[in-house]
Amino acid sequence: MRIITDLNHLRNKCSEVSYQQSSKVALKMVSWLKNNNIDGTLGLACNQLGLGGRVILVKIGNRFQHFVNPTIIELSESKVTTTEQCLSVPDREVEVERSVSLTMAYDTFGFQNIGTGIGKYEGQVATIIQHEIDHLNGVVIGDEEGVVR
Ligand SMILES: [Zn+2]
Repeated sequence: MRIITDLNHLRNKCSEVSYQQSSKVALKMVSWLKNNNIDGTLGLACNQLGLGGRVILVKIGNRFQHFVNPTIIELSESKVTTTEQCLSVPDREVEVERSVSLTMAYDTFGFQNIGTGIGKYEGQVATIIQHEIDHLNGVVIGDEEGVVR
């Protein structure tokens, strides 16, 4: 698998898939990150590797956590301008306005049932989550042809 930089591909919105399917996607993403050992990577969306579904990896503390079918349910009104990089937009830094904090819902699996997890995030983690969920929705930083962020 290689990182996709073709904006025409990345502008497609990702569709939800089953939790079981998503777990496989998450495993592929984690092993890709390990095998490619990309310094400084803080997050990844499945469509950046050409994988289907709605799965993101977010670095929280010193480990990557995966979220299946993540949805932002609340964004703080207070904003911050961040300077972001993206594996799909090589050699560029783009200024993006983000909410400082957010609440996210995502699918969980326990006791053989699909449940919903809810988390509140702020600072850099909130920025990464917004960046990765943008990917799932076909939004890429600095993409003036698509939805600009
Ligand atoms: Zn990105």
